Amino acid sequence: MTFSGRKVFVVGGSRGIGAAIVRRFAAAGATVVFTYAASVGAADHLVAETGAQALQIDAGARDELIAAVRDAGPIDIFVYNAGLLVFGDPLTLNADDVDRMIDVNVRGAYFGSVEASRLMPGGGRILVIGSDTADSMPFPGLAAYVLTKAAMQGMARGLARDLGPRNITINVIQPGPTDTDMNPANGPRAAGMLGPMAIKRYGTADEVAGLALYLAGAQARGITGAMHTIDGGFAA
Ligand code: NDP
Repeated sequence: MTFSGRKVFVVGGSRGIGAAIVRRFAAAGATVVFTYAASVGAADHLVAETGAQALQIDAGARDELIAAVRDAGPIDIFVYNAGLLVFGDPLTLNADDVDRMIDVNVRGAYFGSVEASRLMPGGGRILVIGSDTADSMPFPGLAAYVLTKAAMQGMARGLARDLGPRNITINVIQPGPTDTDMNPANGPRAAGMLGPMAIKRYGTADEVAGLALYLAGAQARGITGAMHTIDGGFAA
């Protein structure tokens, strides 16, 4: 699959699933721009490795994100991957931390996707990285996180209706436990994560990136407003 001549913009691309998506699209010939918030070293390394362009922009800063997307010009494939995970007893969770997660996971996804669609040509693609926990939440302490990922489902269904007439698709990729800094396969929560999985193995960021490329490819032109779960059966 080649993406030569296509411009890809990945929000939150310095590490984990986002970095795997940057690598895959760059290897497939796309011109890739990615944003990140804090991981300067990882971003620099990825730029050197892939030739992608990196922009240090907080996805939770609405106007800065909108300006960066607008200034990138027409984007063929927009990927919203940036995400925070705040968890714990909802009675004691810090409200500012929850608000910050909503800013990054929800507001950024909405305003970034809408802005990307403004100049997006027909055949364009929007992909947002949600979570299988939006469909099945077997653990306590994750209500606020799941709130943000469930919001992406509604957003995608709605924007599919707005953008369909322009031949632009929007889809949600819903990973399950995937080995990254956010959820390491050797971390303290890993054993519990494996419990609900039908295939008791953490996924890899590259597997999620492969699904992103499929949904951005020509054969997926009829898929929109849909959720695509890749979770080893966690939510089955
Ligand atoms: P990581 O924490 O490993 O990486 C997160 C990436 O997002 C980093 O590149 C980070 O950049 C970037 N990012 C975070 N906050 C911001 C921000 N405010 N502005 C711009 N970029 C930001 O996470 P994962 O790769 O594991 O997760 C990626 C997505 O997949 C998230 O949306 C997550 O919710 C979702 N997901 C992950 C699962 C898992 O098991 N790993 C399971 C289900 C869903 P920087 O370091 O520069 O801040």
